[in-house]
Amino acid sequence: MEIDKLMSMLKVKKHLKVGIMGGTFNPIHYGHLVTAEESLKQFKLDKVIFVPTGTPPHKTSGVLAEAEDRYLMTVIATASNADFLVSRIEIDNMETSYTIDTLKRFQEIFKEKVTLYFITGADAILEILTWKNPVEITNLYKFIAATRPGYDISKIEDLKKKLYSHPADAKDHIFLMEIPALAISSTDIRERIRTKKPIKYLMPEGAVNYILKHGLYS
Ligand code: NAP
Repeated sequence: MEIDKLMSMLKVKKHLKVGIMGGTFNPIHYGHLVTAEESLKQFKLDKVIFVPTGTPPHKTSGVLAEAEDRYLMTVIATASNADFLVSRIEIDNMETSYTIDTLKRFQEIFKEKVTLYFITGADAILEILTWKNPVEITNLYKFIAATRPGYDISKIEDLKKKLYSHPADAKDHIFLMEIPALAISSTDIRERIRTKKPIKYLMPEGAVNYILKHGLYS
């Protein structure tokens, strides 16, 4: 469905810039939504596709809600924004979700007509050398690394030096974006639920209600 929408846009525009918003979204919160919106505007993206991770390749700390629950919360949280789409590409795949496989699948569908920007947290990108095919992925695609206020950006600068021999390549492939709303974190929300503190106004109301209705994270 999200693919169909983009395909029809391609009939009008010859080339699109699409953000692929990768995350466990356990649960999704306003920090993620602000990150997607800011990417859309700063990088003049045509759409942002949220891709909740199916089976994460790395260990997650704390409780991980079912993939279907994380997907549905993402759909609910993004429903009012016409520029946000949600994909089941990783959720429906029973195997471990590797970002390079996901990006290649999107690229195969859109062919050369789309430039893909993978958007995620800076701390996740810092681990990219441990991901599947790190050199290939960081040369083929563009990355937007969202940071929380006060983030030590020298860590990302060091990573760029390891990945690219030419500073110009690094400049064109990895972008940093500070997002004050990322003071909100999924870890904190899960802890607040566990200790019966309010989570209202940290995430869209529909997603809060979904958590309460299904007794997630308590
Ligand atoms: P994580 O390690 O749980 O998160 C690291 C940090 O980034 C956390 O502070 C997290 O905050 C933040 N973050 C995560 N997604 C974000 C987003 N879309 N926008 C803004 N901040 C975000 O990371 P994760 O969520 O499990 O994974 C991030 C992405 O990297 C996923 O798409 C995952 O599949 C991919 N990944 C791929 C590989 C691989 O291919 N081998 C390995 C690791 C991760 P919150 O906790 O508040 O979200």
